[in-house]
Amino acid sequence: MFSKALSRLAAATVVLFCLAVQPSAAHAWGNEGHRLINRLAVATLPGSVPGFLRTEAAANEIEYLGPEPDRWRSPAEPELVAAQAPEHFIDMELADALGPLPHKRLDFEAKVFAAGQRPEKIGLQPWQATEVWERLKAALREYRNLSAANKDTRAVEQAVLFYAGWLGHYVGDASQPLHTSIQYNGWTGPNPNGYTTEHKIHWQFEGPFVGANLHAPEVEARMTPVKAVEGDIFDAYVAYLRHTQTYVEKVYQLEKAGGFVGAGTAESREFTADRLAAGASMLRDMIDTAWIESGKPVADPYAGK
Ligand SMILES: [Zn+2]
Repeated sequence: MFSKALSRLAAATVVLFCLAVQPSAAHAWGNEGHRLINRLAVATLPGSVPGFLRTEAAANEIEYLGPEPDRWRSPAEPELVAAQAPEHFIDMELADALGPLPHKRLDFEAKVFAAGQRPEKIGLQPWQATEVWERLKAALREYRNLSAANKDTRAVEQAVLFYAGWLGHYVGDASQPLHTSIQYNGWTGPNPNGYTTEHKIHWQFEGPFVGANLHAPEVEARMTPVKAVEGDIFDAYVAYLRHTQTYVEKVYQLEKAGGFVGAGTAESREFTADRLAAGASMLRDMIDTAWIESGKPVADPYAGK
């Protein structure tokens, strides 16, 4: 019996194999979908965000970075693989079984270990996304400081683009329902509706189906209007994940109806466009919010020391 971590590794290996043997057909949330989400987020940023984030060069860089964390899954970097693989998903059922989600990663991990479990079996999605968002906010604050002092901002601009692109990967993963649930790749447990139990649905949905059928115009048309994230960022992000989780069963229903074979169905194409659009909208709004929040005064941590 494969452990969950091993079966996830096996899925990743299949992905890598597909990429290796079929480079021209390599599409995924891990590739085409992630690039699409990142590019659309940048393309729809409001004019209030600094101009360097809205150039064609910025869009190209952030789009390139969409799949970046999936480039960290090679067996050539085993320590990195082990540490970062859990950051792409969270099985909300398992996380919720341990009680309210702590805001800080190490508090959650301590809770998981105390329950005799391992974080890599549950996932670390919302902590990673929140931490990278905070890196982005810190870099934007530095950009404001350097701008105000009339100093060269080119170096910090590069850092901002990297953080924005890196963030996009996780925000994109979190719009994919199968990244939020124990039902991540084949139905488990009671199955009265006869959903597929094969370990194929995850990649079938986010990989070949997206690559063959989804394009920027129909995704952009489904994006929400710009809206800054309100309230606490971690809580807002978890709410976003929980909304995504409500679509887990829908993915299985669509699969059962042949929705992810070939061109699928009108319903499966619209559903997938909606999910990609949700990721692009959330990423755009999180970048916008990082900019707004970076302008708020921060107490000097060294004051009085
Ligand atoms: Zn991922």
